[in-house]
Amino acid sequence: MINEYPRVRFAPSPTGYLHVGGLRTALYNYLFAKSNDGKFVLRIEDTDRNRLVENAVENLINTLKWAGLDYDEGPDKSGEYGPYTQSERLDIYHKYAKQLIENGKAYYCFCSPERLTALREEQQRLKLPQAKYDKHCLNLSKSDVQAKLASNEPHVVRLNVEPGERVLIDDLIRGRVEFEREVIDDQVLIKADGYPTYHLANVVDDHLMKITHVIRGEEWLSSTPKHILLYEYLGWEIPKFAHLPLLLNPDKSKLSKRQGDVAAEDYRDNGYLREALLNFVALLGWSTSDNKEFFTMEELIENFSIDRVHKAGAVFNIEKLNWLNAEHLRAKPASELLAMLKDEMKKSKYADKSFSDEYLLLIIEAMRERVSFIKEYIDNCPYFYEEPHSYDEAVIAKRWKEDSADLLRKFLEKIKALENPTKEDYENSLDQVAQENGVGKGRLIHPIRLVVSGVGIGPGVFDLLYILGKEKVVNRIHKALTVLDK
Ligand code: GLU
Repeated sequence: MINEYPRVRFAPSPTGYLHVGGLRTALYNYLFAKSNDGKFVLRIEDTDRNRLVENAVENLINTLKWAGLDYDEGPDKSGEYGPYTQSERLDIYHKYAKQLIENGKAYYCFCSPERLTALREEQQRLKLPQAKYDKHCLNLSKSDVQAKLASNEPHVVRLNVEPGERVLIDDLIRGRVEFEREVIDDQVLIKADGYPTYHLANVVDDHLMKITHVIRGEEWLSSTPKHILLYEYLGWEIPKFAHLPLLLNPDKSKLSKRQGDVAAEDYRDNGYLREALLNFVALLGWSTSDNKEFFTMEELIENFSIDRVHKAGAVFNIEKLNWLNAEHLRAKPASELLAMLKDEMKKSKYADKSFSDEYLLLIIEAMRERVSFIKEYIDNCPYFYEEPHSYDEAVIAKRWKEDSADLLRKFLEKIKALENPTKEDYENSLDQVAQENGVGKGRLIHPIRLVVSGVGIGPGVFDLLYILGKEKVVNRIHKALTVLDK
């Protein structure tokens, strides 16, 4: 247990979709809060006005809701530390930027984009290890600055990184990380459009929102020294940091859009269960000592600990996600599967047909071990919903023998005489025909499956016959005989 009630946050920039890496960050923050009696805050970091996407915030909130990652405070919730959307907090950032300027920790910069480009090119030509602003405007006199501001000259506000000791980060996952102060640029804090940069807004908000632990992706580690300087210069306590390992493609390159879907919404829309997706992303960088793989949300909350988050990049393995989806689907009660199957039916080509709950429940029971996605309850066994249109040629070649038609006719006679045949009745009838004709059961099982389903695989043949019912079975055998008995 952490020794205080932690407050953590997920602080996405709304880009239009929730990246699976973002989903993992949100999940780890959520689990950390839940397992330590803490609070989980959602903050929207929308200060990059060039990257605004319509409905992005709405989408993001919907996806988090779908995932069940409920936050305690956020833009659409009340909370003591709002507003939780950065574009609604501009005055606050300006107040702290002013304070930094007054204390000599930040300064106005009026350099033109042309000068900055020339500076960068010159530094590249000199092969300097890193392009940095040259503090040109730090030397402007107070009166010069006042005059430029009075005449509305375009300007930014920059952090004044002063020489000093190395900046240390005591990361909960990576341990001690050190940065030379000389490599830290005089970062822009307020842009020419008056909006703060990520760095200033992030630090101000984490402080004002009383965030105790900053849990975020490793790609932000290089920004952290700038943040630490800001905390120092503002005289604020530094929160604890935990930088989560990168997500990698199977070839160990950084997980990218090119190599598959990275939007959490795409997984949702492709039929993945939230339980499976969350279980999967939880394991991208974290494990228990026994390497258990299947976790419910309750088990994740119970077991999660930041100490067990790994440093090494985590490989995104879609096969594992598919396996987890199958496992979570199987773990669901039949009643829930029924509701899901009925929803799926409405989207399928069988939308106009109606099947009783009883019938669908039998299909669920028979197919449960054979499907990984809810839609496979339809796609993998169309023969439950319509009669076969054709018979698999490969199965015919292998299983349809000279006496198949004759044996099927005999089987047909037997079941015609039965009233409401049970599974056992079908089995007995088949046994009898096999015995009376001196053939193995397989000589009936395979052709029967073929003619009622059109294919060679599926649930046990007696389950299949029982679920379809006598009328369909009789009709399908009849029809098949007219096609196959040439
Ligand atoms: N707005 C940043 C993002 O889009 C947040 C990084 C952080 O958590 O500090 O990921």
